[in-house]
Amino acid sequence: GGEAGRRHLVVLPLSAYGHTIPALLLADRLLNLGYEITYICPEYRMKQLLQQSKARGCSQEIRFKTLKRTNPVAGKSELSVHDTIQILASVILDYHENSKELKEIMEELFICGGTPPSCIICDAVVSLWAQDVANEFKIPWILFFASPALALTLIPGMENSGLSLVHPDENCVPRDDLGSDAFEFFLESCLKIHDAVGVMCNTMVELEADACKALEENRLINPNNVPFAAIGPLLPRSCLEESESDQTFEENEAFEGAEKKDACLKWLDQQTEASVVYISLGSLGEASAEQVKEFAFGLEASRKGFLWVLPGDGVESLPDGFLETATGIAVNNRGFVLRTWAPQLQVLKHRATGGFLTHCGWNSTLESMSHGVPMITMPFFTEQGGNAKMIVEYFKIGVRLPKDESGVITRHTIEVAVREVIENDAMRKRAAELKQVVRATAKAPPLKTKAFLEQILNKY
Ligand code: UDP
Repeated sequence: GGEAGRRHLVVLPLSAYGHTIPALLLADRLLNLGYEITYICPEYRMKQLLQQSKARGCSQEIRFKTLKRTNPVAGKSELSVHDTIQILASVILDYHENSKELKEIMEELFICGGTPPSCIICDAVVSLWAQDVANEFKIPWILFFASPALALTLIPGMENSGLSLVHPDENCVPRDDLGSDAFEFFLESCLKIHDAVGVMCNTMVELEADACKALEENRLINPNNVPFAAIGPLLPRSCLEESESDQTFEENEAFEGAEKKDACLKWLDQQTEASVVYISLGSLGEASAEQVKEFAFGLEASRKGFLWVLPGDGVESLPDGFLETATGIAVNNRGFVLRTWAPQLQVLKHRATGGFLTHCGWNSTLESMSHGVPMITMPFFTEQGGNAKMIVEYFKIGVRLPKDESGVITRHTIEVAVREVIENDAMRKRAAELKQVVRATAKAPPLKTKAFLEQILNKY
């Protein structure tokens, strides 16, 4: 029992971009609700994490504790998709091998004289490990699911319930190129979620009524009747406010290579309202050299503006003359190519941004929805296919990019989709309506989060 203000919660994310960011936003919310928070992550992610935290206006009072792991691809400035997958695999296995170090951190938290931790809140992928540690310290653990509820209904072991809301082919297909050890660990961890004392999901009933209901009530999907709460959408304050001017200098500064980022935002400033398509495939998205070429020709033919995030050696596949200056200006100033991490929140918030060609990562999806930006969907793996379906078929705020027989998205398909997303006023109107729903809902969950946590933790 005890006061919420006196509780100390340990947040244990998976240290991949799409997971550390919502876990940070959760930590920030919990801190604002009066909890004491310790956030644990590998040391080599700390610098980025602090940047992300600052860019999202998170509290400085989150206490960070680090695991001393080495970066498997240290020293490389440009990461290929393969590198990123490797990082992900090693991160998963690291956690497995690192129980000892985590236990030491926990021990320290227990004896340092402050409030001892009363719960571990962990990502699905590291729940096996969290459970082990939580058991040792005789405290409960709660699952924080950073993806949509729909994906949770399709976790291995549940997908055969016959009640899945989306065909498994469209959803929750983990990357088998993780390697077999990491993959096994991933599957084993996912099955542990039935042993959590509660599940908090970064979604909202207004987006996923059926999946949320199934998780609350359906004993085939949730056999142990684990309390479930939709506590999302977890979004930074900048995603919930109207004005553009609240993008402070501090936020700009928080990004690595701020000059380059400034250049892309300055370029956006010169464009007319809702005229530019922002293209980013997230931290794990990949496009072949051939696909990059098709994109280039399709974008050129569309006659629309574009801001294209093309990291790594992607630019080498661009047609000759496409890129006009080293700063990134392309096709007679109609486009801008950014070779590094983009200030995505500022781009989505910008009045010139009229569409988002996305891999449908859940965070990107929520961020786009909260800014009323319609999407062009290009899902790769995990739950992204299900997210694309939600965007296109359920909310009708996006268009698909179908592949041809050889698996390529042709320049013509791209040209048509880009025109459609910019010119379809009815779709833009629906996106603007959904934005209001998302923003209104995002203001309510804090209290729900607290009530949910207290109800569970009061039992321990
Ligand atoms: N992001 C960003 N700049 C980029 C690419 C991504 O700031 O150039 C942020 C984005 O705003 C989001 C997160 O990184 O919060 C990516 O998470 P998501 O779930 O969309 O995709 P993932 O990278 O995990 O596949």
